[in-house]
Amino acid sequence: MEKTSKKSAELISIGTELLLGNILNTNAKYISEKLSQMGIDVYYQTTVGDNPDRLERALELAKSRADIIITTGGLGPTYDDLSKETIARNFGRKLVMHEPSRARIEGFFKKIKREMTPNNLKQALMPEGSVIFENKMGTAPGCAVEDDNGKIAIMLPGPPREMTTMFENSVVDYLSQFCDSIIASKTIYTAGIGESTLEDRLYDMMTTSTNPTIAPYAKEGECILRVTAKCKTKEEAERLIDEAIEKVRERVGDYIYGVDVGTIENAIVKLLKEKGLRAAFAESCTGGLIAKRITDIPGASDVFGMGVVAYSNEAKMKLLGVDEAIIKEHGAVSEECAISMAKGIYEASGADFGLAVTGVAGPGQSEQKPAGLVYIALYDGTEVKTRKLNISYTVREMVRLITANYALDMLRRAAQMR
Ligand code: AMP
Ligand code: MG
Repeated sequence: MEKTSKKSAELISIGTELLLGNILNTNAKYISEKLSQMGIDVYYQTTVGDNPDRLERALELAKSRADIIITTGGLGPTYDDLSKETIARNFGRKLVMHEPSRARIEGFFKKIKREMTPNNLKQALMPEGSVIFENKMGTAPGCAVEDDNGKIAIMLPGPPREMTTMFENSVVDYLSQFCDSIIASKTIYTAGIGESTLEDRLYDMMTTSTNPTIAPYAKEGECILRVTAKCKTKEEAERLIDEAIEKVRERVGDYIYGVDVGTIENAIVKLLKEKGLRAAFAESCTGGLIAKRITDIPGASDVFGMGVVAYSNEAKMKLLGVDEAIIKEHGAVSEECAISMAKGIYEASGADFGLAVTGVAGPGQSEQKPAGLVYIALYDGTEVKTRKLNISYTVREMVRLITANYALDMLRRAAQMR
């Protein structure tokens, strides 16, 4: 039988701040996890300071026991960023100007309208014959270089956002030549459906499908499905994943608010923006959580009309025009009050949707109004939609979170119909 040429990797984290304990080495955790998913063994992790001699010694040692050496840190513009210089020398490669990177760095400074100091250009000096990885989150590109003995060094930037983005966008592809298979996954986000119902509808797929696998996993107050495939190529894995997602859509498409969108507020801001719609929020029991979650998203100003936290009865009457009689007759936690609040915020804001919530966040409760009883109303100028929730959690935080999730999902569904 032919032996597979399995490669092993060693990580070298470079940065004096790591040795001083100033920061946690999250890069090593991230890269090791990724490599293990890809089936590349990691036997050693080393951390060294910004010191060329000690880095060189770490490199020699790594070359003696691994095929691929992955470094992070020290690619920046300042005098202590010496990784590339040291590694290139150790690997017997000259540094040459990589013009596309030079152009990108110059372009970056033009864009932010700041003068570029000359030391920035050293970031575009790359080892001769290396594969360059573009840095979409910063200025220092990464690279992979091979020495005459076939040892490979992959140099990545230190800032975790730059490193992880580069890893996802370029390094996974580069490393796939050393792997028998790659693992890819996509996440399906749902709202308005309970975990058990979701499992019930997808049970056969979840239990019998092995490639891709479909697994539920919990996020606070939401049901999320992760679809994961292991294949020879990324394209093949994506095709399998997309086919599975289509099948999931056929069964529970109504509850899916996005794939790889992260959060429902992300999905809503995107949706409202696309449709040129705005929403306004009147919140009692959520205390502004809905408005906060929407305004957490960059670009929310295009879609956010207004938010009112109307906690007291007076606020509901004064700011939202809720009739005192409604509160007297039905109470502040009632469908009637929710409707009136939704209409009030709709009128006050001039937005396309008025969304209101009122409920008992708990843990205090009364016999008629238990903790977790919530009314949501959505008004679009002609039609009112309402929803009553009996949330079984009595933890205040969870009641608020789940209320916000349901309310946001009502808005998403209504906006999608437009
Ligand atoms: P450098 O590219 O070495 O100048 O690193 C820039 C910044 O990235 C450092 O100041 C750290 O905040 C961060 N950083 C560098 N290495 C790591 C690491 N291994 N884990 C987490 N953050 C890091
Ligand atoms: Mg550094």
